[in-house]
Amino acid sequence: MALKLSDYKTDVHNDWCPGCGDFGILNAIQMALADMQVQPYRATIFSGIGCSGKTPHYIKTYGIHTLHGRVLPFAQGAKLANPDLEVIAVGGDGDGLGIGAGHFVSAGRRNVDMVYIIFNNAVYGLTKGQASPTLKLGMKTKSLPQPNVNNSVNPIALALVAGFTFLARGYSYDVRHLKDLIRKAITHKGLAFIDVLQPCPTYNDINTKEWFQGLDNIDPETHKAMPRMYKLEETGYDGVVHDPSEIMQKMAQVVEKSNEWGDKIPIGVFYQNEHVPTYQERIAARIPDYMENAPAIQQIADSDGRT
Ligand code: SF4
Repeated sequence: MALKLSDYKTDVHNDWCPGCGDFGILNAIQMALADMQVQPYRATIFSGIGCSGKTPHYIKTYGIHTLHGRVLPFAQGAKLANPDLEVIAVGGDGDGLGIGAGHFVSAGRRNVDMVYIIFNNAVYGLTKGQASPTLKLGMKTKSLPQPNVNNSVNPIALALVAGFTFLARGYSYDVRHLKDLIRKAITHKGLAFIDVLQPCPTYNDINTKEWFQGLDNIDPETHKAMPRMYKLEETGYDGVVHDPSEIMQKMAQVVEKSNEWGDKIPIGVFYQNEHVPTYQERIAARIPDYMENAPAIQQIADSDGRT
C-alpha cells in the first residue's frame, strides 16, 4: 500500500515558535520521503543540539537525537554499518559550523553516501539568539549588545573545499522546491549537503520572512516587492560535473554564486560530482565482502517479517 505524507508524521507535540522556518524544512523532509516511498524503517534521521535537534521527534522513521556538534559521526557510522539505510543528518548552523566544524570538514573528506541538512538562521535560537558562524559581519540582531564582530562562514564554499560532492541551498518557505532538493540529495551518490535559509522570527529580526520576500526591496518602476531568492535552474546554471576535467571550472562558479548575497540570493543545486568514490566504495575496495556483510541491520529487519 502506498505510503502517505501522514505516515511520516508523529503525534509528538511540536514546540517550535510560530512562524519558525523549521516547520517548512520538516515538511519538506517528510514530503521527500513520501514521494520516494521510503519505508519508515529504512530511514533514520539524526540531529544535533538546537531547535532543529527536535526534528527526529516529529518524523516517523528511526530517529537519533545526538550531541552538540556531533551529528555527523553518528550518522556516518550508521550508514557504514547499514549501507541500505537512508541516512539524513540535520542540525543548526551553530551546531554544524561552530562546535561541529571539524566533523563537517572531516565528513567532506570521506564522502559517505548520505545527506546533511543545515537549518541556517544565523543565530543560536535555543540559547536566546547569540551570533552563529553564519551571521554576517556587522549585523546586530536583537539579542546582541553590539554588532557582530566576526566574519561569517559561507557553508556552501566550505563544504565544497572540504569535499562534499552535492551542494544545494534551499529556502524554508519554498517547501516544494526544498523537497525536490532533498530528493536529489537522497539519490545523489556521495555526501550531499543542503544549506537551508530559514527565518528565526524570535531572534533574527533582520533576515526575516519579509526580508526574504523583499518587502523592503521595492522595484521603483512596478512598485512591487522584489523577492531576494531566485532559482539557479531558471538561469541556465549547470552545477553538474559531467566530466572530471570540468571540476576546477565548476568549483570556481560555485564560489562565485554561493557568495551572492543581499538583493539577489541564489537557491538550487550549486554542484554535483559523482566522479569521486564514496567512502563505502573505498572500503569495499580493501575489504571485498564489505557490501555483503555490512547490512546486518537490514538482515535483522528482513527476518522480522517487514518488507
Ligand atoms: Fe525557530 Fe528561532 Fe524559535 Fe528556535 S528560537 S524555534 S529557530 S523561531
